[in-house]
Amino acid sequence: MIPDKKYLLIPGPTQVPPRVVEAMSRPIIGHRSAEFQTIVERVTDKLKKVFQTENNVFIIGSSGTGALEAAVANVVSPGDKVLALSSGKFGERFRDLAKIYGGEVDFVDFGWGYDIDLKVVQKKLEENPDIKVVLATQNETSTGVQNDIEGLGKLVAKYEAILVVDAVSGLAAIDLQTDAWHVDIVVSGSQKALMLPPGLAFISVSEKAWQKIQQNTSPKYYFDLLKAKKSIAKWNTTYTTPVSMVYGLDAALDMILEEGLDNVFARHKMLARATRAAIQGLGLELLAPDDCASMAVTAVQSPMVVDADTLRKVLLRDYGVTFAGGQDAMKGKIFRIAHMGFADKMDVIIAISALEMALGKVGYKAELGAGVREAQMIFVGGDHA
Ligand SMILES: *Cc1c(COP(=O)(O)O)cnc(C)c1O
Repeated sequence: MIPDKKYLLIPGPTQVPPRVVEAMSRPIIGHRSAEFQTIVERVTDKLKKVFQTENNVFIIGSSGTGALEAAVANVVSPGDKVLALSSGKFGERFRDLAKIYGGEVDFVDFGWGYDIDLKVVQKKLEENPDIKVVLATQNETSTGVQNDIEGLGKLVAKYEAILVVDAVSGLAAIDLQTDAWHVDIVVSGSQKALMLPPGLAFISVSEKAWQKIQQNTSPKYYFDLLKAKKSIAKWNTTYTTPVSMVYGLDAALDMILEEGLDNVFARHKMLARATRAAIQGLGLELLAPDDCASMAVTAVQSPMVVDADTLRKVLLRDYGVTFAGGQDAMKGKIFRIAHMGFADKMDVIIAISALEMALGKVGYKAELGAGVREAQMIFVGGDHA
């Protein structure tokens, strides 16, 4: 085995395309230079296409959680009623942020492995017309569940509340029509489906959200979106932006737009289908049901014979393959295979073939090739049986 040969198949950070790495190696320029302003203008234009919005998208030097905090700090004032909808770890994080900023949070937990039930949300909004902010996760990375943001957006639009969506791991993997679906704030991060290293985050803001931001009384400095709005009017960023990351972003967005958003979403869907079929072919259980299965990451229940983390150790030690483990109560019980960003058919084949071999080593009887074959069948269109 070549120790340096690694296959990073976790839901962030993800693999970075050579074209992005190359772009990032260019010489640094000043973040207040005319040249950088031109780049910010161009990159913002491309971000708007990927976010499917006419509004500006702000670039923040932080991890995804930083932009989630920016969203909350700018729209949640102390005492505001907040409806936090959760399907797992990241839904819980959103709730925690809203509490820290003084929100009066109604936390609705749909459970790990389940998606948001719109009927429950509608009832909450009907009964509590004073809800100011609704928080939701597009792709719940901890469980491999994706939520119906179209349905949620169209529902929340009928009320005074604004909808804030954590799309850190779903944007550019799963369709999210920010404007058409009335999503007021969309937050994303660089190191998931956007194919960049960790370090940048993004946030789009609707007119309805700006009204809320203008009245906001929460303390904030680095994450003040009104300052960011002033800066972007001159294609500036408020503080020193990671220049090299923006070069990379420029290249990554080109790749996404050249492939075409619809093709990008279709690729993720195909990879998810193939991964799920392969897992079932091996007799293993998926965590998320078909109707809310994530197109970006698949969570698998570990077989009874082995702890998921032991299996992951074998995968890394013997095959150089990294899957993600379960978080909190799911630790040791599930493993997660990412198929987002710079992922294609052969990444799924590597994931599944390594899994088949590792399963044999930990005492789970799976026929070699039984999972790979299912994935291949989907890739060739199912007519090579
Ligand atoms: C990864 C992730 C985050 C957190 O992003 P960081 O960059 O680790 O701060 C938030 N929400 C979701 C859904 C994620 O997948």
